[in-house]
Amino acid sequence: MLDSVLLALFLPCLGMTAVFVVYMCLLWYATTHHPDPHLPAKPVSDAGLSPSQLQKLPSITGKDLLMGSECAVCLDDIATDQPARLVPGCNHAFHVECADTWLSKHPLCPLCRAKLDPTLFSSSENPC
Ligand SMILES: [Zn+2]
Ligand SMILES: [Zn+2]
Repeated sequence: MLDSVLLALFLPCLGMTAVFVVYMCLLWYATTHHPDPHLPAKPVSDAGLSPSQLQKLPSITGKDLLMGSECAVCLDDIATDQPARLVPGCNHAFHVECADTWLSKHPLCPLCRAKLDPTLFSSSENPC
């Protein structure tokens, strides 16, 4: 008699537990198996600058800097005797090696994200 009462109480509990376990398994599976993780990286279609294009960028030294002497790529100061590269248009300057490394991958200013105009490289001489 007591056994049947216990069984009557125990079976629904067992059923609930089983449902709960299955539910947790499904939840775990859903959270750990993302079929298509959304990639935040935006597709970059623009290639960087070629070495010949990099050579056409204005070369200056640290003492020629008019605004700020901090290189935004390595966050270090550009010394007065250090060679630097000027980004045409926005006139931001960076160490030659920093600018070349960045610009060979991204055709834009590492500081203000201004896009480098391809026409800048068609004429090597600046009229001014
Ligand atoms: Zn630098
Ligand atoms: Zn800039």
